[in-house]
Amino acid sequence: MMDTVDVAANLAAVRARIDEAAAEAGRDPAAVTLIAVGKAQPVERIEAALEAGQRIFGENYVQEAQGRWPALRARHPDVELHLIGALQTNKAKDAVALFDVIQTVDRPRLAAALEKEITKQDKALRCFVQVNTGKEPQKAGIMPEETASFVGLCRESHGLDVRGLMAIPPADEDIALHAAFLARLAGQSGLSQVSIGMSDDYADAVRFGATHVRVGSAIFGARPPRSP
Ligand SMILES: *Cc1c(COP(=O)(O)O)cnc(C)c1O
Repeated sequence: MMDTVDVAANLAAVRARIDEAAAEAGRDPAAVTLIAVGKAQPVERIEAALEAGQRIFGENYVQEAQGRWPALRARHPDVELHLIGALQTNKAKDAVALFDVIQTVDRPRLAAALEKEITKQDKALRCFVQVNTGKEPQKAGIMPEETASFVGLCRESHGLDVRGLMAIPPADEDIALHAAFLARLAGQSGLSQVSIGMSDDYADAVRFGATHVRVGSAIFGARPPRSP
């Protein structure tokens, strides 16, 4: 049966909205990176995105990504993979081996574990520091007021190549405030990259300073429920 989700058309529509939002904000649309989030999606849809020319992908789970990306990458060596889900220190080795960018660096122990693996594997890995901009107790991320010192620790004590900040703001709050706040925090740490915005709010995130948007269901359709 043909897949009912037209991934190529969805990708084009999302990209067009990003370009429009960037232009409205007086920013260069080319400076906004679209990360296609493949978590829990059938591999056929990822393949459709690759066919359509998409090369930058985000994954939430190390294991799921390990299951499909080595084979996909053999055919598309120019793919860039971002880890956007929580990373346990005992998975640092696998994550460093597979990903090009880890967006969820949020605690000193993880920074130390990444340093160790980056050195061991002699790998060029870029990082984002995750910030809990909504200060939600259950959510990962460094507190906003600790961002500058944690970025400094990552860079100076652990030699991490920190490029930007990432946030998953509370779903019921104004994305504009969180995007602008994250962009300001990034600037205060001398960082230019700002990863915020998902399917429901990426255009507004771009208007208020996102340089990286992470879009899943608007490209790939609704996710099937996770199997236990
Ligand atoms: C799932 C996920 C996304 C994409 O979510 P959609 O609403 O499907 O666009 C983006 N960022 C993170 C951290 C996610 O876990």
